[in-house]
Amino acid sequence: MDDMFRFSDAFGPARIIHIQRPKIGLKAIVVVDNTACGAAVGGVRMAPDVSVEECFRLARAMTWKNAAAGLPHGGGKSVIFGDPRMPADKKEQVIRAFAEAIGDIHDYIPGPDMGTDELCMGWIKDETGRAVGLPSAIGGIPLDEIGATGFGLASCIDVAREFIGLELKGARIVVQGFGAVGKHAARFLAEKGAVLVGASDTGGTLADPSGLDVAALIALKEQGRALHDYPRGQKLDSDKILDIPCDIWIPAARPDVVRGDNVARLKTRLMPQGANIPCTLEAEAALHALGVLVVPDFIANAGGVICASIEYRGGTRRAAFDYIDERIRANTRLVIEESKKNKELPRAAALALAERRVREAMETRRWR
Ligand code: NAD
Repeated sequence: MDDMFRFSDAFGPARIIHIQRPKIGLKAIVVVDNTACGAAVGGVRMAPDVSVEECFRLARAMTWKNAAAGLPHGGGKSVIFGDPRMPADKKEQVIRAFAEAIGDIHDYIPGPDMGTDELCMGWIKDETGRAVGLPSAIGGIPLDEIGATGFGLASCIDVAREFIGLELKGARIVVQGFGAVGKHAARFLAEKGAVLVGASDTGGTLADPSGLDVAALIALKEQGRALHDYPRGQKLDSDKILDIPCDIWIPAARPDVVRGDNVARLKTRLMPQGANIPCTLEAEAALHALGVLVVPDFIANAGGVICASIEYRGGTRRAAFDYIDERIRANTRLVIEESKKNKELPRAAALALAERRVREAMETRRWR
């Protein structure tokens, strides 16, 4: 009994649901964390090895992200156990069976995550009537194609830079992970005059202190090629991205890439977190002590979920961009000001902000 409730605290989780359909080999977990702000929005991850604990932590992160962004949504997450590269017909069957199984979990709205995409969300919508991150043919806003999260990162940076006296024109940026988030962040920042001096993908790092051509690199990636295929610039191992001196270092790849053992290699002034949990807490504290301004993930990278929420409510791309810009600017300013005032890490200030919003929403609910 105690063990079953090992994740419970004052906020949730409201429910942890185990799903099994032996006939087609479906095994899945849904965590509905806190729904005080509204139905939980959170991704459906397809992976062979995610623990219940990890699923719960990801759901909780969505509770904070959605609340901080002022969205009418709580946090949730689900995991379907399996190899996302399974044959397409099998994948459709598994996803549809999952959708049928969550049909009556009305306070959970699925979205895309690692191993699932907009087509999968289309199947879930077809079965249950609810999903976000849909194909544009059925009213979706293609958030990765339009660069919703990268756009939000640029808004975040434009506010954060004021606090360290940095002009965007001529600012040197480095992007770890030149994918959906990273390449669009580079594009929007280059439009404001910033200079991309380093970028990396799984194949390696490309560096040029005099500036890389962002549009050319995006075109290269869109052909399915690697950054190292670019004819100019210095080619280094992917880990060397940590050593490139810059003003703004943007993690947009994997979790825990900056840790206690490598944080001293960073030579930057600002780290807006595009990836989720790119730094260990130890590394984040070390950066803060060194005077590097870190804007935490669930404030800086909320553009994608804001876009998904606008889509769910029938809004347009324009409305999504306006909301992302307004909300991320306001939150970035608030979090940095609070952290300075209370002499605490920006993450502590951001968590306090999100918790406050969830507690206020809980006050309006009968069962809390
Ligand atoms: P993506 O798969 O489109 O891009 C990831 C990029 O990182 C790829 O270019 C890949 O080559 C690169 N990469 C992976 N491992 C690397 C390594 N060790 N070194 C250097 N590069 C590496 O993924 P994405 O959608 O851009 O997401 C990136 C991160 O941002 C993830 O942590 C994701 O959870 C987070 N995030 C994404 C969104 C979104 O809207 N897509 C929103 C919020 C947070």
